[in-house]
This record gives sequence, C-alpha cells and structure tokens, in this order.
Amino acid sequence: MSKMRFFALQELANRKPVEVTLPSDKLNDYYGIHVFDQQKMQEFLPKEAYKAVQDAIEKGKPISIDTADLIANGMKSWAKQLNVTHYTHWFQPLTDGTAEKHDGFIDFDEDGDVIERFSGKLLIQQEPDASSFPNGGIRNTFEARGYTAWDVSSPAFVVDDTLCIPTIFISYTGEALDYKTPLLKALAAVDKAATAVCQLFDERVKRVHANLGWEQEYFLVDRALYDARPDLCLTGRTLMGHSSAKDQQLDDHYFGSIPARVTAFMKELEIECYKLGIPLKTRHNEVAPNQFELAPIFENVNLANDHNQIVMDLMKRIAEKHKFAVLLHEKPFSSVNGSGKHNNWSLGTDTGVGLLTPGKTPAENLQFVTFMVNILMAVYKNNALLKASVMTAQNAHRLGANEAPPAIISAFLGTQLSQLLDKIENSNSEDGITLDDKKKMQLGIGSIPEVFVDNTDRNRTSPFAFTGNRFEFRAVGSSANCASAMIALNTVVAAQLKEFKAEVDKKINSGIAKEKAIFEVIKEYIKISKPIRFDGNGYSDEWKAEAAKRGLDCETSVPKIYDAYTTPESVKLFTSTGVFSEKELAARNEVKWDTYTKKIQIEARVLGDMIISSVIPVATKYQSILLDSVTKMENVFGRDKALKLSEKTLQTIEQISEHISILETSVEAMVNARKVANKIESEKDKAIAYHDTVLPYFDTIRYHADKLELLVDDEMWPLPKYRELLFIR
Ligand code: ADP
Ligand code: MG
Repeated sequence: MSKMRFFALQELANRKPVEVTLPSDKLNDYYGIHVFDQQKMQEFLPKEAYKAVQDAIEKGKPISIDTADLIANGMKSWAKQLNVTHYTHWFQPLTDGTAEKHDGFIDFDEDGDVIERFSGKLLIQQEPDASSFPNGGIRNTFEARGYTAWDVSSPAFVVDDTLCIPTIFISYTGEALDYKTPLLKALAAVDKAATAVCQLFDERVKRVHANLGWEQEYFLVDRALYDARPDLCLTGRTLMGHSSAKDQQLDDHYFGSIPARVTAFMKELEIECYKLGIPLKTRHNEVAPNQFELAPIFENVNLANDHNQIVMDLMKRIAEKHKFAVLLHEKPFSSVNGSGKHNNWSLGTDTGVGLLTPGKTPAENLQFVTFMVNILMAVYKNNALLKASVMTAQNAHRLGANEAPPAIISAFLGTQLSQLLDKIENSNSEDGITLDDKKKMQLGIGSIPEVFVDNTDRNRTSPFAFTGNRFEFRAVGSSANCASAMIALNTVVAAQLKEFKAEVDKKINSGIAKEKAIFEVIKEYIKISKPIRFDGNGYSDEWKAEAAKRGLDCETSVPKIYDAYTTPESVKLFTSTGVFSEKELAARNEVKWDTYTKKIQIEARVLGDMIISSVIPVATKYQSILLDSVTKMENVFGRDKALKLSEKTLQTIEQISEHISILETSVEAMVNARKVANKIESEKDKAIAYHDTVLPYFDTIRYHADKLELLVDDEMWPLPKYRELLFIR
C-alpha cells in the first residue's frame, strides 16, 4: 500500500473526539461577545457617535470624519478587551471566500512613542493593493487601486486577534468588484419597490426588508485521508474513485445519530458562532454518508450572508482542529448526493407583517396574493437569469445531473395555493372584491389562512418552492456566496413590483377603484406567469420536454448560461434598478468565464497527473506481478497447462492493458484539447471550449481508472478509497 494511504488509515484508527466544553451554561453569557453590536455601541461610543451610527444604518446618513474617529476609538477600546491587536477590512471579492489584509493598531505618536491607534479614516475607507482580485478588465494596471468602504449595516466582529470591519469593495472608477456592493443595492431596490406596493394596502409601511435563512450542507473527511488525495486537496472533489459497496442506499445516515468526533466539531463550531452572534439553530446528518447540514435562524439578507461567509471560514478552521477537512464543494463524490445551500427567502415590513405569510384579514390576504403573484411573474420572466445566478462549474454537477433541482427554474406552490390562484384566474372581478373586513371576500381570498393548515406536500425536486411563509431557493450551491442568488432574486422582484405599481396606478388614474385595479393586474399576471408553476417531479425527462415547450430556459452549458446576464432585458433590469451598470455586467461575466475555465483547467491537470503518475504506474506494476505468476506457473506445469490454469489471470492482464491504453490516449487527447482551448483569446469562447472539448474526457478517464481500482490489489492502490473517505469511525 502507498505510504500516504497506509499512514492515513493508521492515524484514523487512533482518532478520538476532541473535548469541547461550553463557556457557560447560559448561552446569554457568551452570545455575541465577539460582535460590536448595539449594546456594545451604547457602552463604548459617546452619545452623538452612537446616534450617527443609527442614522447611518436606518436613514443612510453619511458619517462625518470626526464622528468616525470617535466610533473607531470606541471600537478599538472594546476590541482591546478581547486582546485584539490588529484590524482588517473584511470584504467579499469575486472569488470563493472572503479577503482580508491585517494591519496592527501600532503607530507612533508625535513624540515617537509607540501607541495603539485606530482612526476614523482607517475605519471608513481603505485602499488595499488589490490588483490581483478578479475584476473582469475593469481596472487597467495603472488604475489598479480598489477601495474598501465600511458597511455600517453589518456589525464589526472579532476573530482571534483581529477586529474585522465588513466592507464593500469597489474600483477606483466606482464599479463594484465584490458581492456586497450589488447586494446592498438590490436590497435597497426591493425595499423601495415593495414599500410602494405595501402602501397601496397600508400607508404606515415605511420599509420592507428581505430575509434570508440559509441551510449549509457539507461533508467531513478525515484530514489524513484528505491529504492523501491530491484531487480533494486541489479541486475540492474526488475526480476518481469507485463507489463504495455501501453508500447511501440504506438511508441509514439521514437524521441518524451523529458520530462523536463530528458532534465535537459541531459543538465547537456552534460556540464560536454564538460568540459572533450567529444564531445557529439546526444541525443534522444529511442523506449521504459523512454529509451534514447546519442552519441558523433567518436574518436580514445582508447580515445573513455575512454570517454564512464567516461560518464557511470558521468551519474550515475548526475542522482542522478536529482533524477533519470540511468539503464545501457541491459534488465531492460521485454516486452519492451533492451539497446545496437552500436559501429561504421572504419579505417583511417594518410594521411586522410577513409579506409571504398568509394574513388574517382580507386586506392582508390580497396583499399576500399580490406579492406571491409578482414573485411568480419575476421568476417566470427571469428564469434564465436566476439559473445563471447559481450556476458554476461545481454546481453543474448537481443541477441537471439527476439530483437536487434540475437545470430548469420552476416554482412549486402546493395544491392549495395553486387552486387559489386558479380560482382567481377564472373569476370575474365583477363578482366584487370588497375589502371590508366584515364582508368576507368572495373568490376564497378571505379564507387563505385555513388553506395553510397543511403545507406538508413539499416537493423536494423543485428549485424554487413555496414553504408556507417563504420561498426556498434550492438551486444555490453549497460553496456559493448566497449574494449572487440574492442579488438576482431581489432585483427581479424589485423590478417586477415597480412595474406592477405603475400598472395599478395607471388604472387608478383612469378611474378604476384601487382594489379592482389590483385585482385586474393580478389576474392578468396569474395567466402570464403560469408556465413557471410546476408541482410535478422535476427530475423526470417528461418535465424537461414540457419545460422546453413552455419556453423555460433549458440550457445546460455553464458558460452559455451566463449570457442571461447581458440580454437586453437583463441590462434594462439591472440598470433601471441601479444594481449593476452595463459595464459591471460585462466585467462580471468575464470573471465568471475565467473562473469556469480555471476550475476545469485545474481539474484536468490534477486528473491527468493522477492517472500518469499514480494510477498507470500502479496498474502496470500489478500487471507485471500477474505476468510473473503466469511465467512461474509455466516453469512448474509446462506451457499448455499453465496457460489453461491461468485463464482468468490472463483475462485480468488483458483488461488492465486495455484500461491503461485507453487512459493513456484519453489523457493525451485531453491535454491536446486544453492546449487548443488555451490559445483562444475571448474568455467566453475559451470557457465554452473547456466545457465542450476538455470536460467530456473526465467521465471516460474516470470510468477506466475506477475499473482499475477494482482490478488492482487493494494493498497497492495508492489513493484512499470511497469506503474509507465516506465513513468516519
Ligand atoms: P427545512 O425544513 O427546509 O430543513 P428549517 O425549518 O430548518 O427548514 O428552516 C430553514 C431555514 O428557513 C431556517 O434558517 C429558518 O430560520 C428559515 N426561515 C423560516 N421562516 C422564514 C422566513 N419567513 N423567511 C426566511 N427564512 C425563514
Ligand atoms: Mg430547507
């Protein structure tokens, strides 16, 4: 056996759970101690500075540099209690994960003495040399500067010895180079548009916020086994590996008891999250062996997304302590389930009404139906864009690959809500829809609450499902920054609500009563958006055919899917809502294509290396052992008898030869395809070439490597096998 695999398995046998103790028996004693939250602001900031922060958060008022000095000083005083020595602007560039550059508080005062200083200027804005972050051609090298600027709406927090300030990241010329900037813009757009629509029903509504509750799926693998797999280390997934005789077919992992080592990891992760004010709520096993999920209580989208980014980072670091590697890749193992990150999304008003929660009064219910139908319209009109917002090289292994949601966006409503919309569609507005609380509305609108007594008919195959008081966007990938999906979703809904309001206003101005006007537009929308509604089995081939007939986007090639961002409709959508300029859209697509190419390129290299330097040498060695044995048989039994007795061995030798030969030619052809693709100038065409001409070799190569894994002596096989990777003991 190869040394790596041998030692890894040996280490595994000696693993013990790491002991983790709670900091206190009361959660309240340590919840949020690492966050500069409202309470700490009150304690550490002078009154006027505290008020300035509140005004900035609530009303978007700018903070003066003098006030910023006071805030920075207060933050520093608080952070120093936690032995913090450094600070960083924490931002989310267009890569996997977050970026930070740490600076010490250290400074010299006027007399040359060492002091610790954190100024308002440094809090508010920084100019990191960020020329190596993806920018899609927005910055020329002579303008390589980028700015980070404080996002007041997300609180500063402490990790280890560093104070982290959540920031946006923009270019010298003002274009967004990150996820947070457009996310904040999309949230502002949906706030504005939804508030205007709410005011049709209730003038007291002044703000609408979007909520996000993410469910993070992940795999844990023993660290030593992980280190012995170059594919896991370099690409986050296994590029080969025969499926284990047993994996998820017995469904015995799902909701089963959690192994002790894993519980210890989860416990420590939870403690660290609680200290950071991240309200983790749920933890459980997932469907595949060694697959788990964690989910917090939902929060406003911006904060929830920051928290998800922090959690993904924490997971990796805490896993290390527990001798695990955490796999956030969407498909680390073939033949078992991949990982997603359901994005539970809803809208709520500052008056405490959940806009996707069926109400108690007819007025609330008409509002509920209004939002429901507008969301359906938005998803219908922009289904290609929403798919583009979640599509990556990694997520392509889930979407459309006969698991999780298909690569077609549709919306699931459940029987009762569907029936209600059908009823409205077929009703006559002349039936009267008075919104007098005493007179129940006809058309069943008044009885929606009863409808939701039972919403258990969930459809796990739907990429966008209504689940009682929210939509669950299930197509988001486990390693993704949720912002990508949230930017798209909130923007399409914002634009749709704006259009709706304009149509209703037009009717009202022409003398139609408000309720009737709303009703008429809704009815029209229900008809138009019907093709997006699908409650059947999203995995079936019939659905693929049906979806194409309905005109839904069925493209499966990742690089082509990104085109949805730059269609005339999408450009209008993003520019009219102020979320992206046309230049930003083009640049971000360049980044997406480039990232796609690089991911496939790296995988292709790793795969080629593993075949040439591990698999083929080992298979050849084993083959030669078999040949030796046949020769020795010949010495003992004579040629004819030996050949007869070695019939099976000879077959194996032949099979090994065939597999090796196909592997050699396939790897060579793949390398050549890469060389051709690399010469292509355009990022888009290059990505398409990688998708069309390089990627197809992966399956062939894997197939033959996996066959060899079954033939070659287990003792000699160099890579930890699926049965070892997938079961933690
Ligand atoms: P599931 O049954 O799909 O596993 P859970 O009940 O664990 O879902 O909840 C999933 C997530 O949905 C949690 O983060 C939860 O806080 C969130 N959630 C619940 N209600 C809402 C809502 N109205 N808006 C947004 N997210 C919500
Ligand atoms: Mg869910």
